[in-house]
Amino acid sequence: MAEELFVYVVMIVAAGVLSLLLSLFSYVKLRNAPGGSQYMVVTLLSAVFSFSYAFELMSTTLKEIKFWLGIEYLVMPFLPGFILFMCVEYIGRKIKRPFLYVLFGIPLVTVFTHHTNELHHLYYASVGLRKDTPFPVVDFEYGPFFYVHALYLFLCLSISIVILLLQLRKSLLRFRLQILTMVAGLLMPIVANHFYLNDLSPYGIDLGPVSMSISFILHGLALFSFQMFHVAPIAREKVFESMLEGVVVLNQHGEIIDYNKAMLEVIPMLNSFSIGRQIEKILSEDQKLAALIRRGEECDYERIEENRNTYYQVRFSPVLKNASNIGTIITFVNITERVEMQKKLHQLASYDGLTNIYNRTFFMHQSVNKLKFIKQKGGYASLIMFDIDHFKQINDTYGHEAGDIVLANVAQLAKSSLEPQDIIGRYGGEEFIILLPGKNVKEASELANIIRISIAESLAHIHGQTIYVTSSFGISPVLLAQSDQKEAIKLAIRKADHALYTAKNNGRNNVQSF
Ligand code: GH3
Ligand code: MG
Ligand code: MG
Repeated sequence: MAEELFVYVVMIVAAGVLSLLLSLFSYVKLRNAPGGSQYMVVTLLSAVFSFSYAFELMSTTLKEIKFWLGIEYLVMPFLPGFILFMCVEYIGRKIKRPFLYVLFGIPLVTVFTHHTNELHHLYYASVGLRKDTPFPVVDFEYGPFFYVHALYLFLCLSISIVILLLQLRKSLLRFRLQILTMVAGLLMPIVANHFYLNDLSPYGIDLGPVSMSISFILHGLALFSFQMFHVAPIAREKVFESMLEGVVVLNQHGEIIDYNKAMLEVIPMLNSFSIGRQIEKILSEDQKLAALIRRGEECDYERIEENRNTYYQVRFSPVLKNASNIGTIITFVNITERVEMQKKLHQLASYDGLTNIYNRTFFMHQSVNKLKFIKQKGGYASLIMFDIDHFKQINDTYGHEAGDIVLANVAQLAKSSLEPQDIIGRYGGEEFIILLPGKNVKEASELANIIRISIAESLAHIHGQTIYVTSSFGISPVLLAQSDQKEAIKLAIRKADHALYTAKNNGRNNVQSF
């Protein structure tokens, strides 16, 4: 054997042995690590490829060369796919099934095309021996399918690099070195392939196996010394990503360091390009949230969307290192369900279920607040009490259910005559109460008459029957008390009730002032 050839064969056999050792080692140490099983297959296939290639180089006839080439082409086409598979698994992702079919379908076609080349010459247009070498080296003229395979190889390695670099943006510093080592490993075969395809390698010898073994050492380094496939960072990442709470991490300059998937519900503008950018800039359209983050105090945040509002509790936790603050973790806990339940409870506790106006307790509460306000600003108020006439008779004639409908109608009629500052409540049975801030007794009487007429003129059609009702009204001024406005309102109620009693005695369907 020529001395030069001997050197190459030794290099390639050494590469094969190295790959085999790495494969065995990963079988023992990394079988269950993310990407570990792919690494095991890649190194094993690479070992088979290297040994076959060494035999190819030592072959003396074209027939022998073709035989070993055939063996190489049983394993080599699958290497790029497994490398991509390994990188995807490493960053904690999964390849979807259809993509897996494509990823391994293409090399299957390559194997088939290569082995049937004699029939169609789509892989190699011709295969011969070089005349310029001191030992037999095969010389190819490539067919179109060879370039398909070359493109596939290039794409697999490029995509692997891209996904690792994207992960790099999101990773903590101590994992970055591992990812960079992995990327460096991927660049090796690309460079070697460039030399080989451009006829820059000595005698057209493919140094792929050697470059691959070197890259596997880099991968191995990343794996073993930096604990690349260590479960902890990936598990941590998984927990972070699957959290229901939205989390965004800022450094001390307010730049985004990391965020999880749930955070996209709060800030949909976030994407991988947001990493390293000021959160203030990202939130230039949402000044409310920007101000809240600037303040940095625990609070609630209401996110208003087209057809629903979402409520979050926002928490800020400092990131401390050696007692100095190097950043902030902001957590958004979705509390929509709780807030909505509270609103519902509030509604239940404040409103009368039948008439959908305030119940007596809440009317009193709201009225006292209003009177306190009026007392402060200076002003006056009046009160109306009204009661449906002969309501017992309506129940007796048309039934209780019909009575309920009449009650709700009357409440809505009264409510629709009021202004926003007025407060209306159901005082009891078929008695209603209205506080009119800023109206004197005369104005209150006028309004009461309007309500009285609208009730008297309205007809309720229930089960084919038409029901008429009238109502009687009592009006009183509210004399603001020195300190206790609850007493003031109670007194006004007593007076209005008195006036209402007069209205009833006066033949009903009329308004009386105290
Ligand atoms: P008056 O003109 O003197 O006010 O006569 P009235 O029949 O309305 O007087 P009274 O206060 O004696 O009767 C009120 C009736 O209202 C008695 C009660 O059964 C009925 N009532 C009270 N609350 C409800 C209710 O929620 N639904 C229905 N359908 N009826 C109610
Ligand atoms: Mg009545
Ligand atoms: Mg009554």
